[in-house]
Amino acid sequence: MSSKDWIEKDYYAVLGVEKSASSDEIKKSYRKLARESHPDHNPGDPLAEERFKAVSEAYAVLGDEKKRREYDEMRSLFGSGAFRRNARGGAQPGGVPFDVSDLFGGAAGGGEGRFGGGGLGDLFGSIFTGGGGGGGGAARPRGPARGRDVETEVALDFTDAVRGVTLPLTLRSAGVCETCHGTGAKPGTQPKACPVCHGAGVTTRNQGSFSFSEPCRNCQGVGTIVEEKCPECHGSGGVTKTRTLNVRFPAGVADGQRIRLAGRGEPGERGGPAGDLFVQVKVRPDELFGRTGDDLTLTVPITFAEAVLGTDLRVPTLDGTVTLRVPAGTPSGRVLRARGKGVVRKDGRAGDLLVTLDVAVPAKLSDEARSALEAFTEHTPPAAREHLDARVRRFS
Ligand SMILES: [Zn+2]
Ligand SMILES: [Zn+2]
Repeated sequence: MSSKDWIEKDYYAVLGVEKSASSDEIKKSYRKLARESHPDHNPGDPLAEERFKAVSEAYAVLGDEKKRREYDEMRSLFGSGAFRRNARGGAQPGGVPFDVSDLFGGAAGGGEGRFGGGGLGDLFGSIFTGGGGGGGGAARPRGPARGRDVETEVALDFTDAVRGVTLPLTLRSAGVCETCHGTGAKPGTQPKACPVCHGAGVTTRNQGSFSFSEPCRNCQGVGTIVEEKCPECHGSGGVTKTRTLNVRFPAGVADGQRIRLAGRGEPGERGGPAGDLFVQVKVRPDELFGRTGDDLTLTVPITFAEAVLGTDLRVPTLDGTVTLRVPAGTPSGRVLRARGKGVVRKDGRAGDLLVTLDVAVPAKLSDEARSALEAFTEHTPPAAREHLDARVRRFS
């Protein structure tokens, strides 16, 4: 159980009690819930087991006066506990008017260990273990740090998405400037200690019973001031690095799909594992074909005569043609199926091509066609709408 659990989990909700509940109420509710979800009473039910674990975990904290106080304090510090990871792999508190990454001097890519000696970095270090830690993200734990997750977007052609494709993705990420080794100072010069924080990078502010360390506003938490800027990075100490990655998109990748490539994010630090790469897929629409899952769709106009008399239709597929039999007496809107002409997966499973027949009605008729149609009408029964007539007569 980590501090991060404390911020993310609402143990009061788990036990179904008010935040103001007495220890007796908490105990009572816990006993009831634990009895109900106990694995002995619910053999083979993984949900009950999960629930039992959650209830036990909640009671381990709320059932202990001291732990409960610490838990309450931590959650009031971080709002309702709505912690979410951001794209940089850091974390942002929900509903509180400050940014945690600011607390750690992350904004300016602050140096390591700046918050040593019992500062906030130590207090919250454990919260972020396993989280960010890249250049300028959240806290920097001293051990190995996992690289940041990287988020990118790619637009695929319709056909590529159906068949699968390998594409080079160019990724941009922040890196340390090699000219000044991240100091931001012109080579041959040195950054000077910040006169406001005397090089510490932080200033301390008291608020209630808490003492907050804030990044120094004068030096943005860096602790130093650069007088002559590095020409390469213009004093920022950082540069944008690009790398290219060949990514294989499997056949049938769908619009809106998010693909995770484990370990393809930014490299870890001090031997930590790399982050993950998330690729958000957009598929450009095709001018002819649509797609529903593994099935492709196509609308084909036919004439009234073709629908009535039947015909053989030659229609395009994604990589050829197929001939479909339209039986005599086919109604408009009927869907014909060309098996296996949809998305073909790697394992051989294939979707179909679904062809919707759309009976076209001519807007204009020649005189000959009109007389032929009138003659046709004389020999055909009227449309079957007797079931509507009774309702129509009620209003006439
Ligand atoms: Zn300063
Ligand atoms: Zn530089």
